[in-house]
Amino acid sequence: ELLARHHHAPSALVQMLRELQAALGWLPPAALQELASGLGVTLAHVQGVTGFYRFFHTRPVGDYRILFSDNITDHMLGSRELMADLCQRLGVAPGQTRADGRVSVATASCTGHCDQGPALLINHHQVLTQLDSARVAEMARLVEAQVPVTDWPSAWFDTQDQVRRADVLLGPALAPGLALAAAVARGPEGMLQEITQANLRGRGGAGFATGLKWALCRKAPGTEHIVVCNADEGEPGTFKDRVLLRSHADAVFEGMAIAAWVMGARRGFVYLRGEYRYLLEGLQAVLARRRAQGLLGNNIVGHPGFDFDIEIHLGAGAYVCGEESALIESLEGKRGTPRIRPPFPVEHGYMGHPTAVNNVETFCAAQQIAQHGGAWWAGIGTTASTGTKIHSVSGDCERPGLYEYPFGTRIGRILEDCGARNTQAVQVGGPSGLCVSASEFGRRMGFEDVPTAGAFMVFDRSRDMFSVARNFAQFFAHESCGFCTPCRVGTALVVKRMDKLAAGRGSRHDLDVLNELDKLLHTTTHCGLGASACNPLRDTVAKFRPTFEQHLQSLHFEPAFDLDAELSIARAVTGRDDAAAHMEKPA
Ligand code: SF4
Repeated sequence: ELLARHHHAPSALVQMLRELQAALGWLPPAALQELASGLGVTLAHVQGVTGFYRFFHTRPVGDYRILFSDNITDHMLGSRELMADLCQRLGVAPGQTRADGRVSVATASCTGHCDQGPALLINHHQVLTQLDSARVAEMARLVEAQVPVTDWPSAWFDTQDQVRRADVLLGPALAPGLALAAAVARGPEGMLQEITQANLRGRGGAGFATGLKWALCRKAPGTEHIVVCNADEGEPGTFKDRVLLRSHADAVFEGMAIAAWVMGARRGFVYLRGEYRYLLEGLQAVLARRRAQGLLGNNIVGHPGFDFDIEIHLGAGAYVCGEESALIESLEGKRGTPRIRPPFPVEHGYMGHPTAVNNVETFCAAQQIAQHGGAWWAGIGTTASTGTKIHSVSGDCERPGLYEYPFGTRIGRILEDCGARNTQAVQVGGPSGLCVSASEFGRRMGFEDVPTAGAFMVFDRSRDMFSVARNFAQFFAHESCGFCTPCRVGTALVVKRMDKLAAGRGSRHDLDVLNELDKLLHTTTHCGLGASACNPLRDTVAKFRPTFEQHLQSLHFEPAFDLDAELSIARAVTGRDDAAAHMEKPA
């Protein structure tokens, strides 16, 4: 039935694995074999895809799979202590499945709820936010009583939008179809001109000109053109797309339809990150309504021959799939390994078709431009950074949530509005972005000064910026897809050096090694994840060097290998901790 529903298409492999796991709880070898036979592909291929995604399990992980969000902002709100508490109550070690097979507790990279953390994901489906000790205790009781998650208090799963400042995109919604009709009235070329005149730049971080991307895709030869919405919002500290998808889905889908009108596309995909699985039913309902309203399907807005529809694909816990070529690989049912470029997706994307991939927020902006015109949009913000930008504000502030401002807004203004005090740094754009220190709070958000994909994590003076950088280093090592050696090994070596510093065994030599690793990663890795993996480290070492030096045991060379520390495992196994079980420290 599963195979038939997906037309036996190998491109649906990731979706089938998700559905199979949702039904069985894990992916047994026999099920993978059956899937391979049904799809006419090798078992090795199915296993290779399964092994790539963190949310797929080839061993039982329990009836309750609990993943604590592991972003630094969750740590700051006590997530580690809560996780330790839950593990202790349930008698399970972190990362392990309990012997009776009922429950497992581990961490996941940021779940996209930093404004209402600490958060966790349960059974890859539901998100619990604002955790505290009482809720953790009650969760443990419900697990032990074997109460299905569907019967847990529904209020636990209520997530909030927390829109603190709305401008154009988060303001009152446009009536469905209005902007699309305006786009159709302009004609594809006229609409493209508006996008170009608006100087709209992609909101996913790179800031590529949307008009140029659409023009390249439109003129690329092909039997079919494809529109993809990148909703794989995996950058820690970013959660704006979660809110746009939950409360402004019409704007997202309408922007996609406008892109389809410009490029002559008939198919569109939303690649929804696995952590946002709980948004799926709501999104499907909006799609169904829009079909009924004649805003998707055939002859859209009554225009003969304007046919376009949208499918939603779910990711499965791989940050690298936010990179557009990796996302396309995943859409095709493969491992999400970034492609070698050129050719670029606008010429050779999904199944070889010209494909335009844009961020959720970019499509919302396109809807506004279709309604109000490119000149209107270009009049907001600055010359190089037109329009507004939504910031996901979290960390040390009184009012975390979403803040939408015209580009060109000062960082200090955002800090004032969100009630941040005594701030020493802001991490803008997530771990791969920029760490801005207090002396720079007069700088302005925009491609010409401080570019951003949306994350705005605030750290006050009580925070150890070394711990922040260490958390980000762990994130990159965790999310490296392993395809290229410099990234796979380099990110692990960075973590190892940071661990050594954290243990108080580091020297200035380690900072030099970290500097060398930064250069290596920046110049030799296959995709942007590896290239930007040391960004937070570089920034924080440069701006908070004394914080790092506090962690140094000595300013001089110390061997990387500490024999006494390495023996700690043997001491734990044998239960010995006497003097003879330790190495003597050299004088
Ligand atoms: Fe994968 Fe890292 Fe290489 Fe990118 S840089 S392809 S994430 S291993």
